[in-house]
Amino acid sequence: TKKDMKGFFIRNAFVIFTVAAVIIGIILGFALRRYNMSYREVKFFSFPGELLMRMLQMLVLPLLVSSLITGMAALDSRASGKMGMRAVVYYTTTTIIAVFIGIVLVLIIHPGKGSKDEFTKQQQIEQVSPADAFLDLIRNMFPPNLVDACTSQFKTQYTKRVVHVKITVNDTIFALNGSQEIAREEMIPVPGRVNGINALGLVVFSMCFGLIIGNMREQGQPLKDFFDCLNEAIMRLVAIIMWYAPIGILFLIAGKIVEMDDITAMGGQLGMYTVTVICGLLIHALFVLPTLYFVITRKNPFIYIAGLLQALITALGTSSSSATLPITFKCLEENNKVDKRVTRFVLPVGATINMDGTALYEALAAIFIAQVNDYELNFGQILTISITATAASIGAAGIPQAGLVTMVIVLTSVGLPTDDITLIIAVDWFLDRLRTTTNVLGDSIGAGIVEHLSRHELQNKDLEVGNSVVEE
Ligand code: ASP
Repeated sequence: TKKDMKGFFIRNAFVIFTVAAVIIGIILGFALRRYNMSYREVKFFSFPGELLMRMLQMLVLPLLVSSLITGMAALDSRASGKMGMRAVVYYTTTTIIAVFIGIVLVLIIHPGKGSKDEFTKQQQIEQVSPADAFLDLIRNMFPPNLVDACTSQFKTQYTKRVVHVKITVNDTIFALNGSQEIAREEMIPVPGRVNGINALGLVVFSMCFGLIIGNMREQGQPLKDFFDCLNEAIMRLVAIIMWYAPIGILFLIAGKIVEMDDITAMGGQLGMYTVTVICGLLIHALFVLPTLYFVITRKNPFIYIAGLLQALITALGTSSSSATLPITFKCLEENNKVDKRVTRFVLPVGATINMDGTALYEALAAIFIAQVNDYELNFGQILTISITATAASIGAAGIPQAGLVTMVIVLTSVGLPTDDITLIIAVDWFLDRLRTTTNVLGDSIGAGIVEHLSRHELQNKDLEVGNSVVEE
């Protein structure tokens, strides 16, 4: 009846608007492509989308910090320890499965054919050695300056330096003795910085801080109340931004379609590669994760995923799991009624380190590049790729195309040419959106699973401090 229809519409208004935004965005984007807009015009056109990105990013910092601190403070250390263990086991398992799917698919489909002439090379990618990248990961966990950590991360940069090396010759047979100095060029790693919030560092700090004030009992109460209140206020801001999100998403998608390169120009190998990545991500997102959710919780995974639709579409539109975080929170807590003590704890960590889509993508892309180069990989090298792809996905920030940059680590670990990342840049904007959506889905399903496994600890009402303020 009419009344039912109206009720349905009101309840699902956000989802309906968001889905409509995607559809209109795609149509509008293709319709405007004919006009050959200049770069400047495209930027003007997608300005409403840029605004959405800015609004979401604005909330990430206070949201990340306040949710983790209150999340940790609301749990006693035993409960949070158990929950943390479960989350880590979930993250590791799903990431390994994702990497495995990527590797199996790329080996079976074999999209790379040992010739590079089909590709158009694009801009240069900056290189980092795996050892330095690993140190950067650890460095970022311990930011010496918290205020700095809100705006910048560590990233090793290299400068060329000429060093003089003394060589001593001491040969008794030819009676050649003495020493000589030669000049040699060396790449010196310098601890550098890049712009962007150091989410990993803030996660580590906030978790420890939350745990401590939780243990301080009454003495910690003022701080607990403060961050609880901050968190609630931010979530109310998110609720306002949700209304603007469909408009932003529409323009983000339309703008990207207007500006993208001609799809028909996409070569055969690159096309097959794109299809392989899409298959891998679909298998992981629509089969592996839902099955895991069903097996563990015995609940319908697709109803759960339906509740997440707005977050997933936002991920698709923004290609940033970090910018999507506020919406992911809203969807999980409001639509799927996941316990706030779980979301506050699990989501910020997940958005920072758990990236199934990125891991799958990096392993697959590295093997594709090997195939294009006609480079046979042995089992040991494939194993190395799976380990470094996992590490690279942990190290990747939740921002657009971060995975492309951390791929350098995967390639260098098995001696593949890092320049060849440029071969796949042409399609990365698109694949990035899909892997970001998979990343967000992985984090959200993780929250559902951890909540289910932790239901006994969560029954303890004493621990519900964090919830009391928020309940409306
Ligand atoms: N854009 C992805 C994310 O935010 C990371 C990546 O580039 O793979 O999750």
